[in-house]
Amino acid sequence: MVGLINTPKFIVDHNVGKLAKWLRIMGYDTRFFNGSDDAELVATALAEERMILSRDTQIMKRGVVTNGRLKAILIQGDEPEQQMRQVIETLNLDCQFRPFALCLECNQPLRQRSKQQVEDLVPPYVFRTQSQYMECPACHRIYWRGTHWQAMTERLRSFVKGSAEE
Ligand SMILES: [Zn+2]
Repeated sequence: MVGLINTPKFIVDHNVGKLAKWLRIMGYDTRFFNGSDDAELVATALAEERMILSRDTQIMKRGVVTNGRLKAILIQGDEPEQQMRQVIETLNLDCQFRPFALCLECNQPLRQRSKQQVEDLVPPYVFRTQSQYMECPACHRIYWRGTHWQAMTERLRSFVKGSAEE
């Protein structure tokens, strides 16, 4: 399990913002950068030891990137699907790395909640059919492995499957 020693953390530039959600679905700690100041993006990446994902070629020319101190991937495709495939293949990421671990909106580690704790917070049908729940400590969204979650993980798998068939 060599990969676990150097699990990448990411900072996703606003020009490839959709990648943040997909990486969080897989369980990779991913910060979304919505500013426009490259210097701030680079400084945050260095301070938090995050790999930059961006379509901005200027970032790739910076000294800290060219000398290898800061890792960055220049994202090529226009579609989130192509972009995600590039990242997964380049870094050999595991789509099932830590499913259900991070809030898809704010990247906070989710906390387990009992069925009783969420009774008034989820739709009755969900309460009847699901037994495992997680809550984001920041935005208080409740997560469960329902149809929405399954559809997203299946789509994620299809990205990788598609690349293997090429
Ligand atoms: Zn949240």
